[in-house]
Amino acid sequence: MTPPKFSDWDLDRNISDAIGKLGWEEPTKIQHEAVPVGRKGIDVVGQARTGSGKTAAFGIPILEACEVKKTTQGLVLCPTRELAVQVAEELGTLQGNKGLSIETVYGGTDLEKQAKLLEEGVDLIVGTPGRVIDMSKRGHIDLASIAIFCLDEADRMLDMGFFPDILWIVERMVGRKQTLLFSATFPQEVLDAAEEFTSNAVHVMSEDLEVEVPEIDQFAIKIGRLNKMWALGRVVASMSESDQMLIFTNTKRMVDMLSERLDRQGVDSAALHGDMPQNKRERILDSFRKGSKKILVATDVAARGLDVDGITHVVNYDLPDETESYVHRIGRTGRMGRSGEAWSFVGSNEIGALDKISNTWGMKIPIVEAPELPEGKKEMARLKEDWDELSDNFGMVTIRLPIGNEEASKMSLANWIVGEARVPEVAIGEIEIGNDASMVEIHVKKASYVIDVLKSRKFNGKSLKPEIIN
Ligand code: AMP
Repeated sequence: MTPPKFSDWDLDRNISDAIGKLGWEEPTKIQHEAVPVGRKGIDVVGQARTGSGKTAAFGIPILEACEVKKTTQGLVLCPTRELAVQVAEELGTLQGNKGLSIETVYGGTDLEKQAKLLEEGVDLIVGTPGRVIDMSKRGHIDLASIAIFCLDEADRMLDMGFFPDILWIVERMVGRKQTLLFSATFPQEVLDAAEEFTSNAVHVMSEDLEVEVPEIDQFAIKIGRLNKMWALGRVVASMSESDQMLIFTNTKRMVDMLSERLDRQGVDSAALHGDMPQNKRERILDSFRKGSKKILVATDVAARGLDVDGITHVVNYDLPDETESYVHRIGRTGRMGRSGEAWSFVGSNEIGALDKISNTWGMKIPIVEAPELPEGKKEMARLKEDWDELSDNFGMVTIRLPIGNEEASKMSLANWIVGEARVPEVAIGEIEIGNDASMVEIHVKKASYVIDVLKSRKFNGKSLKPEIIN
């Protein structure tokens, strides 16, 4: 079969010229599936992640459907301002000289200025739900005139609790003729939303997720919070000059703390989270996009829709709370078929969550050692004994002592340790004595101290050299 070509579609001249200028040769898979359906005015439910070319997949039908009228005919809703800006930019490029006025509508910007722009009349709006509602309530957007509606990254929108807002908007788009819904994943809520917002939609679930993330090597390092900085140092040290890294943490506070710690280590990084003023966020994103910042630390929300082709490394400093966020996060790398690496730092209490992620998406995420430190590079942090990681669910750390059952009984060994280290009896847990060695559980709070004491003691004239069993 010959590959599909844009020229087969007989697109609006302005659009086909713009595509020519962009140098795009053939439609991506999702474009190939969604554009012909969308152009017929049929509802589309499409599965595609960022990087698949999904913006043009819904963008081309929307741009063709809208005319230069200065009346709002199209609305694209995105989960974040960053994504809205990107989508609007891409639509602006794709329309070429068609002359549609495309406006972004998102929070954090000057209301008055935005209102004025809207008053001048726009053909197509790309926005986030909150501000779109706000502007409609103020009478600056006429939702009733909108004929074509697109919900981009529907899974993320619903994840962020936008369902009531979307519903509010949809109910007021009384002239809506066509709906395009795009999502990377299809949990039940997205299926429900598709059912609610579209009718007789053609589903273009073009590829499953396993096929969608082929170029990314995924690894996990089993490491507790105490040593995550050390592990990060190792991954950073393994990067080459042209690589760029996106680090995810789960809280805004952690974004700031980690970025500051990196700075203190002489590693230049930028922090991005939702609390920052919009212009600052745009500045930071810009420097990352241009490559002048190599490392960006961000929360999921802030990095949503982030479209930087240079990202080669994604680090989950914290594993995300939501299984789906993992796929969104790693999707920031390996874009348009480039290769990428995703590293997840998982403490022993996160191993279950990691299993859930790999099982849900059918992905292999092997637990590996941190990368070796390349010659000439120095560690970012010292590797410390992490007692919390070494202890079990009952808070016990197991040590091995070279004392066999000829030399001691459980009782006498326990009593001896309690006496020597002067710790309460409850600090000693189970003891197992074999032929020539014993395993002794010690409470994590006392473990370091007891081990130090035992190192300096002799039992029956024998040095003990306690060994921690992981
Ligand atoms: P998206 O998934 O919409 O974020 O697109 C990912 C990137 O691929 C963007 O930088 C697009 O400009 C680019 N792109 C989209 N469609 C094509 C295509 N058919 N050929 C080459 N690049 C494309």
